[in-house]
Amino acid sequence: MTNDLPNAPYRRIAVEEGWGCQEMFDVYRKFLSDYPQDDPSFMSLMGYYALGEGERPESVRKRLIDTPTRLAEMDASGIDHQILSLTSPGTNPLAAKEAIWLSTRANDAMAAVIAEHPTRFSGLAAVPFTAADAGAAELERAVNELGFKGAILNSHVRDEYTDTEHYMSFYEAAASLGVAVYLHPNGPSQGLFKPFHDRGLDGSIYGFGVETGLHLLRLVVSGVFDRFPDLTMVVGHLGEALPFWLNRIDYMYERQIKTGRYPHVKPLPKLPSEYLKTNVWYTTSGMPWQEEVMFTRTMVGADRVMYAMDYPYQYEPAQVALQDSLPISDEEKFEFFEGIATRVFTLNLS
Ligand code: MN
Repeated sequence: MTNDLPNAPYRRIAVEEGWGCQEMFDVYRKFLSDYPQDDPSFMSLMGYYALGEGERPESVRKRLIDTPTRLAEMDASGIDHQILSLTSPGTNPLAAKEAIWLSTRANDAMAAVIAEHPTRFSGLAAVPFTAADAGAAELERAVNELGFKGAILNSHVRDEYTDTEHYMSFYEAAASLGVAVYLHPNGPSQGLFKPFHDRGLDGSIYGFGVETGLHLLRLVVSGVFDRFPDLTMVVGHLGEALPFWLNRIDYMYERQIKTGRYPHVKPLPKLPSEYLKTNVWYTTSGMPWQEEVMFTRTMVGADRVMYAMDYPYQYEPAQVALQDSLPISDEEKFEFFEGIATRVFTLNLS
């Protein structure tokens, strides 16, 4: 393969890579024109990327859909393999019927791209979370019939967090299939949206991270990982800041439980950080800077932090080189770019 970066003794596997299809944009445009007031967070995100004019939204739209462009840019940035996922917010804003339709169409279309380039792409399944079974049936179909490697969960589902009973059939399916759930950002839910949007902070600059870090911490303290101890979750952007908070979360959690401050919150058998170092893996999507990467490895363990780009939203070949030169051993670099991803997503690339 042509490669502007020096050849490396490892495959660079990028695990949080946005993908889209024409049907997705058609559904989004119809939703935005039929219900322009319903979901201000979706309007802010996809009003820009699906409807916006100008260099950035137009190039993102093209790159989400166009396979030859994607392959050329993977070659130019030294990416051997991408794990694709339907771009945020996936089917989360849609009613059950539309969500089922779009998930099925998108998974079939992505599977066709993967079938044409099996060494370059794998896929995470889009799931209709608003369906009666929270998407369990479509996840099973995508894994068993299409060969998908996990599911993408774009944070809140119509302002609901996925720690309530409705979503347990989805987690049960993921755990019993043995596939990972990638918890990916969405714009902030309704109750969080305004203070971010007032100052232009609801997007990937900061609002995404707050929304998604909150979602992950809710999953931990609600006991989802006690109910499904084998559940594997992956989170991008170096853990959406939770590694930075780890010790304070444990410290305050212990005191809250001891003093009985929240009688409605059932105590966990373990500290929050233990779940975050057992069930959760972390990726560097959008966060290529060495200080933060090294800090996250220190906090959660080097064997839990792997590479991702966040194509096409942050396509910067120089940021790949930044991670090629992390101050770690060759063995650790192999794990970072290839080894961890191969195990967590059960890839078979050789
Ligand atoms: Mn992303």
